[in-house]
Amino acid sequence: MRGAWLDEGKLTYREDLEEPAGEAVVTVMLAGICGTDLELLHGYAGFHGIPGHEFVGRVERSADRPDLVGRRVVGEINVACGDCATCHAGRPTHCERRSVVGIRRHPGCFAERLALPVANLHLVPDSVPDEVAVFAEPAAAALHVLDAVSPQAGERVLVVGTGRLGILVARALLTTPADVRVLARNQARLPRLASLGLPATLEAAPGSCDVVVDCSGTAEGLALARAAVRPAGTLLLKGTHVGAASLDATSLVVDEVRVIGSRCGRFAPALRALASGELQVDDLVEARYPLSDCGRAFEHAGRPGALKVLLES
Ligand SMILES: [Zn+2]
Ligand SMILES: [Zn+2]
Repeated sequence: MRGAWLDEGKLTYREDLEEPAGEAVVTVMLAGICGTDLELLHGYAGFHGIPGHEFVGRVERSADRPDLVGRRVVGEINVACGDCATCHAGRPTHCERRSVVGIRRHPGCFAERLALPVANLHLVPDSVPDEVAVFAEPAAAALHVLDAVSPQAGERVLVVGTGRLGILVARALLTTPADVRVLARNQARLPRLASLGLPATLEAAPGSCDVVVDCSGTAEGLALARAAVRPAGTLLLKGTHVGAASLDATSLVVDEVRVIGSRCGRFAPALRALASGELQVDDLVEARYPLSDCGRAFEHAGRPGALKVLLES
């Protein structure tokens, strides 16, 4: 099988990959490169194998569910054991024994095919094109912010970090009645943020915001985000950090700041938001590369300010 292979911080294109085996085998049509994939290259999660976790594909075979063959699907990335205390408690994304597609002990989607449990698959409505459906996973992650906070009219919400994830998170928050801004690093960024429909601010006064979401993935961004939270406000951590980022614990106590971690979200509401256009993503695709050009695609995705780069098999 053809696909990308990651080992010891190096990405290569190979044509000798092992065919996937599992409950359902899915032919990948489009796959998206995200910040996590770039971090895997730099050692995040110690992953080696086929990377990639954002995809839309078509079920090629499924012994138990032949009715799914030929159907267009997206897939949840946490593969839970179904049997541990956490799974029994209804929190499969936190399964103690989980593997994660393209991130932890499970081959990813930057290949012609991948295997997944049937339970992880979601049918894509016919009205949603591949270029939109491929955003199901990051859209779910972005909308998951709204499972943690529901900012009200008059509340000030700030998003720090305007990369791929930050843009989606800001758009998710803009569906609420709150006053949502993204923090622009400098004047030069303003036109681009405006073209993406994101209200921007060049600075956030310390303690001025009710809710701040850090999507920066940097220690500097996290510090800016923390400073902007008002006493008894909420700091939501969305970006993954490769190194250790620090927060002053005493100031969190004194200011009674609520700190919330946020990772993967629910696919069903994400697909609904993509189908209805409530969450717009079609303007976020920056480039497409064939699978055989995965090296160049990763290089492109890693450029500062790059939007979504897709791989097609
Ligand atoms: Zn991702
Ligand atoms: Zn489990």
